[in-house]
Amino acid sequence: MPDLDGKVALVTGGTRGIGLATARALAEAGATVVLTGRDEAKAKEAAQAAGAAGGLALDVTDAKAVAALVRGVAKEHGKLDIVVANAGIMEDALLGMIREELVDTTLSTNVAGTIHTVQAAARAMMRKKTGAIVVLASIVGEYGSAGQTVYAASKAAVANIARSAAKELGRSGIRVNAVAPGVIETELTAGLSEDARASNIGSTPLGRLGTPEDVANAIKFLVSDDAAFITGQVLGIDGGLVL
Ligand code: NDP
Repeated sequence: MPDLDGKVALVTGGTRGIGLATARALAEAGATVVLTGRDEAKAKEAAQAAGAAGGLALDVTDAKAVAALVRGVAKEHGKLDIVVANAGIMEDALLGMIREELVDTTLSTNVAGTIHTVQAAARAMMRKKTGAIVVLASIVGEYGSAGQTVYAASKAAVANIARSAAKELGRSGIRVNAVAPGVIETELTAGLSEDARASNIGSTPLGRLGTPEDVANAIKFLVSDDAAFITGQVLGIDGGLVL
């Protein structure tokens, strides 16, 4: 099991789903974890459930707030070793139904929010010339999905944030990777119809949907020293769905 003893980690969007499971997995591996959510009370409650050191309010669309929070966490804990830019939203819309507001909120949360988080993480990690960042892409970002043009575009961008930041930050000892989950059972996918669930399970060689823990365990590996020579990768966690 990767040993994260002594590491300080920040997980955005940690109030539920993949973020909460990731915060818990990193804390169980020994890291001091701070998680965030838009509502402070929910973030504190989630932090307690995850065994995290703290839960803070943060909207990742606000670049200044992200910068201040990341600086604050690094200052309070003396450093920042791990950042998981997990906060994200998904709303389906067929092309003809896409509203401008959906484009704005999706891109400002998933793309700009990830850029703000990676930028602030890099600033905090640069001084010590070490760190590991993971961002949340998606299989639909690589292969597309009918009814998900906006979301798929945002997740393609996220994968390329990881690749570009990895190239830029490698010489500073900072690794940046993405995970690309398939269909994971969280609130985000709770609206899937029974037909869609059955069809996804039928197309998945491992014969089931993913759990938040499936993704959290892969993230735990990527941020650990066991992945010391891995950067700029987009790791599929989909039970083989895309094969
Ligand atoms: P959930 O909807 O269960 O959780 C999303 C988290 O993001 C919540 O903690 C929410 O916190 C937070 N969040 C949303 N908007 C913002 C914002 N503007 N600022 C800060 N935090 C925000 O989603 P999942 O756990 O399923 O997904 C997590 C990530 O994984 C997302 O990026 C998603 O796109 C990606 N993903 C998920 C897949 C799946 O099948 N579930 C598949 C592929 C990728 P709160 O509402 O408390 O503020």
